[in-house]
Amino acid sequence: PSSDRPDYLQRLNPEQRAAIETTDGPLLVLAGAGTGKTRVLTTRFAHILLSGRARPHQILAVTFTNKAAREMRERIGAILGTPVEGLWLGTFHALCARMLRRHAEYVGLSSGFTILDTDDQLRLLKQVIEPLRIDAKRWPSQGILGVIQRWKDRGLTPERVTPAEDTDFANGQCRAAYAAYQARLIQLNACDFGDLMLHVTEILRTRPDVLAQYHRLFRYILVDEYQDTNTIQYLWLRLLAQREGQSANICCVGDDDQSIYSWRGAEVENILRFERDFPGAVIVRLERNYRSTAQILGAASGLIAHNDGRLGKTLRPGREDSSGEKVRVVAVWDSDDEARMVGEEIARLRAGGHSLAEMAILVRAGFQTRAFEERLIALGVPYRVVGGLRFYERAEIRDALAYMRVLSQPADDLAFERIINVPRRGIGAAALQKFHAAARAGNMPLTQAVQDLLAGGEIKGRAREPMAALMDCLQRGRDALPREGHVVVVETLLEEAGYIDMWKADPSPEAPGRVDNLKELVRALADFESLEGFLEHVALVMENEENAGDARVSLMTLHGAKGLEFDTVFLPGWEEGVFPSQRTLDEGGLKGLEEERRLAYVGITRARHRAIISHAASRRIYGNWQSAIPSRFIEELPDEHVATSGAASQARTRTFGHAPEFSQAFPVVARRARMTEALARGTAPDAASGARSAAFGAGERVFHQKFGYGTVTSVDGSRLEIAFEKAGSKRVLDQFIEKI
Ligand code: ATP
Ligand code: MG
Repeated sequence: PSSDRPDYLQRLNPEQRAAIETTDGPLLVLAGAGTGKTRVLTTRFAHILLSGRARPHQILAVTFTNKAAREMRERIGAILGTPVEGLWLGTFHALCARMLRRHAEYVGLSSGFTILDTDDQLRLLKQVIEPLRIDAKRWPSQGILGVIQRWKDRGLTPERVTPAEDTDFANGQCRAAYAAYQARLIQLNACDFGDLMLHVTEILRTRPDVLAQYHRLFRYILVDEYQDTNTIQYLWLRLLAQREGQSANICCVGDDDQSIYSWRGAEVENILRFERDFPGAVIVRLERNYRSTAQILGAASGLIAHNDGRLGKTLRPGREDSSGEKVRVVAVWDSDDEARMVGEEIARLRAGGHSLAEMAILVRAGFQTRAFEERLIALGVPYRVVGGLRFYERAEIRDALAYMRVLSQPADDLAFERIINVPRRGIGAAALQKFHAAARAGNMPLTQAVQDLLAGGEIKGRAREPMAALMDCLQRGRDALPREGHVVVVETLLEEAGYIDMWKADPSPEAPGRVDNLKELVRALADFESLEGFLEHVALVMENEENAGDARVSLMTLHGAKGLEFDTVFLPGWEEGVFPSQRTLDEGGLKGLEEERRLAYVGITRARHRAIISHAASRRIYGNWQSAIPSRFIEELPDEHVATSGAASQARTRTFGHAPEFSQAFPVVARRARMTEALARGTAPDAASGARSAAFGAGERVFHQKFGYGTVTSVDGSRLEIAFEKAGSKRVLDQFIEKI
């Protein structure tokens, strides 16, 4: 009888309860958006604990984002009435990072390994492929890195890649590049994001003792957003779940209509494989949507019905108050107008007592956020860019992190390279080359090579003293760590190394803000027990989204919004070429279009009460103004759930008298120019991240210690392309050049 059931089960519907009480054996919950899949997973976690089936650390739970992990931890704590510690709860990457620390030696790493960010990955790859003489114009390193990442997503180590797989890119040299890249990573005691899963899976594949250890440890496995697992994630799960002569206690929840990561290697087929790989699997379907009004659900269901090859699910409104507002489709003039409309709507809702935390603007692509950011800043509406994560991307923060990495990992050559001449210590390209040669010859890290060269009196001139000072304060920092603690040591290091002073002495208007950021970084550091713990945290949050905090409007991509919900959702930019994306249209396949449609479905189903779709009549794409056609998805929305409004068509007639040629009309161009000017002067959101290179611009005359005089031809972050008078065109780091 239901009255015997604990309170946390009473609050669920019968199907949800069934999904929780079928505790043992393989279980797949296949259900539409907002039907409580995540809630089932969370409650199941608590149920396993409360019914005494397992202790907290014996459950492995996988979420799609760090934020989702945090929320799940909180909800489990709420159900249990006490915060829980020591959980194996997190993203695939976070869980694998933790596992890899325990067994790093099996893949030739030591447990203090560093996790590289994309910048470092690319830098490293470029270094190791130099001997391969790959034509970088034709086969950019980014592309090679992409190939390597896709192999990693499929669980292929360099040895497992067959020659037949290596034909598309760089004339079949990707395998060699991959092998060299991996070898170098191991030398540096580092790994990239893909390696976290790849290494751990390889260990589980080849070390039965380690696998057995985890089989004993994890009694239950829980997985959210299962439709978006890729091959390596699937392999990892299967290794952990499948056991000799035992049925696996694995529960996955997912929705094929929300599979939106195939471009990152996700395989929706993993849903179909589940029954095959886990015989006797129970499949539970949930049909009641508790999130959205009937109008919103009707619109979303009508849209997704245009996709073929769905597994087929029913979705019914589960809330009593269900009817609600229709989905609004607003036609606007251009992206400025769109931002103004959204801004006004947000201000209006806010004045009506709605919390900003319950509003989100979901865009198809990153470039769309800027207009909204400008507008929200102008209105003084607090917002956060979820997933675009600004703080840790700022140059001064990256520098400081590099100092911390060298402190914690003397073998981290990439980090050391970043800081060796920041602030300037008289190290030119020639000196750096010499250090590298010594390191290679002695098969040792750069820091060691520099130590030896210093000791042998081989670093001379103006570089000697500052280099000796740097090495000295790094060493003293390391020695002091156990005694003084990481916070004091890092703060002291940044001071003594002259890094803080470099910014204090910097006359640019951003410099004081940078010093404040560095202070904030040290504050954040204090929240962690160790330097390594902090660095790992940073590596993980940089990949994912950020932080709860006070009420703010959320700005994020549709991809980043998966699993989330808001009272009000703005869905701007529903135009052909923006959404569906131009790339999808160019490829012309049905598959891509269906994935875009699923993305639209994900977007609409994030809304509880209000969904506001907009499309502009003209849009600037990569600097050009184009007239825009409303997205086909707008047409596919069922009429009965949609209310259309907007003044764009009238505005168009009023201003120019005719529609399509307006992009040529002078007044628009003039307005554009003024806006561009204002933006250049104003608070461009990423102005701070340009750092030192912000000082350089194309056309400027510069001097390089090795290559001599030249003119900047292009700027890409800290990398500059320079036409040298004697040495020809070269790409160099801005640290090595001076303005003249
Ligand atoms: P998505 O597919 O978007 O990830 P989901 O299936 O994971 O959605 P949840 O996020 O778990 O759905 O639930 C959607 C909303 O419905 C949440 O606010 C949740 O608290 C609520 N909910 C779920 N089940 C019930 C229920 N039985 N009674 C009342 N509210 C519920
Ligand atoms: Mg969910």
